[in-house]
Amino acid sequence: MHTSPAHFLRQALSADAAPASPFPLDSGLTAQWRAPGCLEIAPAGLAADQDSVLLSCGVHGNETAPIEVVDTILNDLASGRLPLRCRLLALFGNLDAMRLGERYLDYDMNRLFNGEHARHPDAREAARAALLEREAARFFESARGRRLHYDLHTAIRGSAFEKFAIYPFLHDRPHNRQQLGWLQSCQIEAVLLHSKPANTFSYFTSRHCQADAFTLELGKARPFGQNDLARFDGIDLALRRLLAGEDAPDAASARPLPLFRAKYDIIKRSEAFRLNLDEQVENFTLLPDGCLIAEDGEERYVAHGGAERILFPNPKVKPGLRAGIVVEPAKLDD
Ligand SMILES: [Zn+2]
Repeated sequence: MHTSPAHFLRQALSADAAPASPFPLDSGLTAQWRAPGCLEIAPAGLAADQDSVLLSCGVHGNETAPIEVVDTILNDLASGRLPLRCRLLALFGNLDAMRLGERYLDYDMNRLFNGEHARHPDAREAARAALLEREAARFFESARGRRLHYDLHTAIRGSAFEKFAIYPFLHDRPHNRQQLGWLQSCQIEAVLLHSKPANTFSYFTSRHCQADAFTLELGKARPFGQNDLARFDGIDLALRRLLAGEDAPDAASARPLPLFRAKYDIIKRSEAFRLNLDEQVENFTLLPDGCLIAEDGEERYVAHGGAERILFPNPKVKPGLRAGIVVEPAKLDD
C-alpha cells in the first residue's frame, strides 16, 4: 500500500469507497479504513491496558490546520518516523464540507451529536454524525486502558486566550486533573468547564463512551495551506508524545490553568436583537462591570462584577438560538 505524504487526507477526501480490509504500513503498523475518513491504526502485540486515543478533526470542514496536523501525524506513523504505542482512531469529520472548504453544508455538525442527528434527518451532516458516533462507540467499547478523545478545532474569531479547551459536562464524574495538566502541556491557555449536556462530539464520547474528552480550540481558522503550523507546535508535540507512549512532563505548573464556567447563554429572541460589542470582539474578552452586552426589545443583558467574559458571540444566528455565552472564573470543587 502506497503511503506517500498526504496520502491519508487525500484518500479520505476522494470519493472512492474506503477499503475495508486492514493493510500494512511501511512502518510495520497495521491500518484500516473503518469507513470513509475513519482510519484506525494499531501496533501488533499491544498490551491490553494501553491507551485508546481518538483524534477527530474537520467536524467543521473549514478548520483546516487541525486536519493538516492530524494528517502529518498519520503520515509519520506510516513511515515509522513516529512510533505508536496505543490504539489510534483518526476521524476526518465533515468530509463533504471539507471538500468545499465550508464550515458545514446544511447543519452545524457539532450540534448533531448525542443523538440529535435523528431530529435533523434531512441535513447532510446527520448521517455522518451518526456514523462518527458509531465508530467512536465501537472503538472505545474494546478499550481496556485510558479512553482519550481530543476533538480538534480552530475558532472563527480571535481569542484573548488563543488556545482553549472545552471540558464537557461530566454529570457525576470528577474532573481529571491529570488531563488538565496535559492540556497545559499542549499550550492550552484556558478551559471552559461546561455545566450542562451539549450536542457536541466531545460530550457524546464523554457521556456515552466514558472517555476523557475535550473540544480543543487551537487558534483562528485559515484556508488549506495558509496555516502557520508552527502555531500548532504545542498540540502537535503533545499528541506525538502521547501516541509514542512517552509520559508527558509533569505539568504541575506554577501558573495554574485559568478555568471558566458558563454563567448564562445570551439568547437571540427576535430580529430586534442587537449585540452591543464590536463585530471583531475576541473570545474571552473581559466585560466591564455594568457594560450593556446585548439587547433584544425590552430585554437587556448587562455585565456584572468585571470578571465576566464573552464567548462565541454570534448575533447572526436564527432567533431562538444562542448568540453568545457569558462565562465567569471557576474552580474545581473537589
Ligand atoms: Zn470548530
